[in-house]
Amino acid sequence: ILTLNMINKKFDGVEILRDFNLKVKRGEVLGIMGPSGCGKSTLLRLIAGLERPDGGQIYLESKLISSNDKIVPPNKREMGMVFQNLALWPHLTVEQHLCYGISNLDKDVQSQKVKEMLDYLDLSNLAKRYPEQLSGGERQRVSFGRALIMKPLILLCDEPFNSLDRELRWKTRDLFYEIVKEEEITTIFVSHDPEDLIEVDRIYRLDN
Ligand code: ATP
Ligand code: MG
Repeated sequence: ILTLNMINKKFDGVEILRDFNLKVKRGEVLGIMGPSGCGKSTLLRLIAGLERPDGGQIYLESKLISSNDKIVPPNKREMGMVFQNLALWPHLTVEQHLCYGISNLDKDVQSQKVKEMLDYLDLSNLAKRYPEQLSGGERQRVSFGRALIMKPLILLCDEPFNSLDRELRWKTRDLFYEIVKEEEITTIFVSHDPEDLIEVDRIYRLDN
């Protein structure tokens, strides 16, 4: 479903990725590991269209979505992303976060989908709250909800469980695997913790 061909990326003259190739199959859950600073977040940002490669191409299905001179914007890629720091908006409620990716749909359809997602992630009684009124685990689920609600072709997760304590981490991780396996969502899951990646189909190790 996704092909990265000979991707090159530098920041300020420093090479982060050199001639990087990767193929991801439809429905696959791919884990990506590697030391801090090796370029894991950069790789996800390239796939999401938040960064432009210096060289090489990225194809979604058979469509070219990234190259040095062509880039399909992030909101036209049908990808969902859970960011390393979650990146929730302080001025939006839980419900408004979930509406974000589906604002093109009819109001009735929107509210039906939001209701389902709230139920699914056990957030129904928190719909009107703002991020600062939520626990770490609840914020985490909002972040997943925002990424999942538009049924992304690919779900990109950047160390999504980092802010959680051990027990909550396990619980959230179980829920995460349940969702992506049940819904057969193609997922790229970055973590430095091998325990997080215990149920992925394949692990790619990125190094310096
Ligand atoms: P971590 O495990 O700590 O999250 P990472 O593998 O996700 O690390 P990246 O965030 O991809 O690493 O960063 C890779 C390298 O690129 C780092 O050296 C970082 O400082 C550098 N870098 C990332 N983004 C930029 C940017 N916008 N401008 C300049 N340098 C950057
Ligand atoms: Mg990172």
